[in-house]
Amino acid sequence: MLFFGKKDKGAGQPIHPLVGRRAFCRICDSDQMFTKCWRRAAMVRQCTGCGAAFENSGQLYQSFQPQCPHCAEFLEQPGFDYGMCDTCGSKFELPDGAKPGLLPNKEQRQRMGIFGQIRNK
Ligand SMILES: [Zn+2]
Ligand SMILES: [Zn+2]
Repeated sequence: MLFFGKKDKGAGQPIHPLVGRRAFCRICDSDQMFTKCWRRAAMVRQCTGCGAAFENSGQLYQSFQPQCPHCAEFLEQPGFDYGMCDTCGSKFELPDGAKPGLLPNKEQRQRMGIFGQIRNK
């Protein structure tokens, strides 16, 4: 499940680190500190979940909620802010002045049955 020794981790996935903030974590069901926050600057070209490279990210991004065609990982969208809950490690989209939206990880997706809903064209 973990990728070791990937020296180029982050290459081709341009993100701008942001100052941490407090936000509501729906998994913890309370306000939590999000120390790790970032803004995505460009389309995801390599899956943050399974590491698959996308040859045509543009096509994936035509969908309202782009997902990895291999593992159904939700892809971060350019210009959006994201953060990781310090307490449970869940990833959220952190829109200014709105409720954070969960980007479920693999385990969470399986629990929610999201994987089965992915359309393979
Ligand atoms: Zn993937
Ligand atoms: Zn949490």
